[in-house]
Amino acid sequence: MWIGQVPVGGGHPVAVQAMTNTDTADAQSTAAQVAELAAAGAEIVRITVNNEAAARAVPEIKERLEDQGLSVPLVGDFHFSGHVLLRRFPKAAQALDKFRINPGTLGKKRKDQAFAEMIAVARDLQKPVRIGGNWGSLDMEVLAELMDENARRPEPAPAEAVVLSALVESVVRSAEAALALGLGEDQIVLSAKVSRVTELLWVYRELARRTPFALHLGLTEAGMGTKGIVASTAALAPLLLEGIGDTIRVSLTPRPGEPRTREVEVAWEVLQALGLRRRSPEVSACPGCGRTTSTRFQELAERVEAYLKARLPEWKAIYPGVETLKVAVMGCVVNGPGESKHADIGISLPGTGEDPKVPVYVDGKHFTTLSGEDLEARFLAILEAYVKRRFGTK
Ligand code: SF4
Repeated sequence: MWIGQVPVGGGHPVAVQAMTNTDTADAQSTAAQVAELAAAGAEIVRITVNNEAAARAVPEIKERLEDQGLSVPLVGDFHFSGHVLLRRFPKAAQALDKFRINPGTLGKKRKDQAFAEMIAVARDLQKPVRIGGNWGSLDMEVLAELMDENARRPEPAPAEAVVLSALVESVVRSAEAALALGLGEDQIVLSAKVSRVTELLWVYRELARRTPFALHLGLTEAGMGTKGIVASTAALAPLLLEGIGDTIRVSLTPRPGEPRTREVEVAWEVLQALGLRRRSPEVSACPGCGRTTSTRFQELAERVEAYLKARLPEWKAIYPGVETLKVAVMGCVVNGPGESKHADIGISLPGTGEDPKVPVYVDGKHFTTLSGEDLEARFLAILEAYVKRRFGTK
């Protein structure tokens, strides 16, 4: 399927998504954050459309992005009143590239009708839809039905297992209802998010086993900082390696002052670490040990990383394929030369007490040996020249 200009599912590369945390009604701030997320690598961005003011702002957000030459697809995140907003604000419906519907938040009495109204808009406009269940907004009718069924068994399953089954079941039933309402199989993405890693693995394996639809992967409420990154990685990696998941989002809670783009960086790091996609050059740096008692090695590794990050936008525009570059920054003679030879370009600093000479390796061969105060600048110049020679087309 296509979400805007981004192919999702059907063997296409796993797409990286992000979500804004601005007030969508503030079109200027929201468009600015979407642009920031896109610059960091988000290929699809979700915005909440939680009220009339937000729905009214959607076309302006799209226009502001188009004015900057940005075609990043926008997904409208709807809960509670999505059916009303999509009908009342047709320009918003048209401007969005996908609708996210959570059937568990469409109320009790008119839930089926509200769901059908949203699907009808998607069908008529030929927009894809993500049917996204969440353990925090579980469909209570399905849960009650499965709980009753479980209670009648000779050996009932634990309640937690029934909750997970209910989550999968409600998403699958909603997808079947969407098909019956005229949505195409290639217009449906499913997600069923939980906050525990092992539960997420079970839920997505079930979805992959039971349905043919594209899957949106993500651990909900992963948390802040290291905990959120580790939990998200632990959840996404096994599934992605099994071929489960067509688009991912890493739901990190930003620390105060932390940029929203962190979730995009982490998502890309996961895909790069698994060897599924490449977006930026890879830097191998040894962890350092008792042989690197000065901070010189850490400082050089950090500055090489920063240099690559700063140069990447321009390099990508003029040097196709530069994201496959591998750079090694190593701390001593034990593994330094070997690892440097495996990289496209590598530098091996002397460890404590070693000869203060710094060999540089290019394409697996010794290229030069640096020494002195300006070795960092000279290494970066060699790196820049290598990138130009290897990836330059003119
Ligand atoms: S390469 Fe040298 S400095 Fe780096 S971890 Fe290995 S032994 Fe320690």
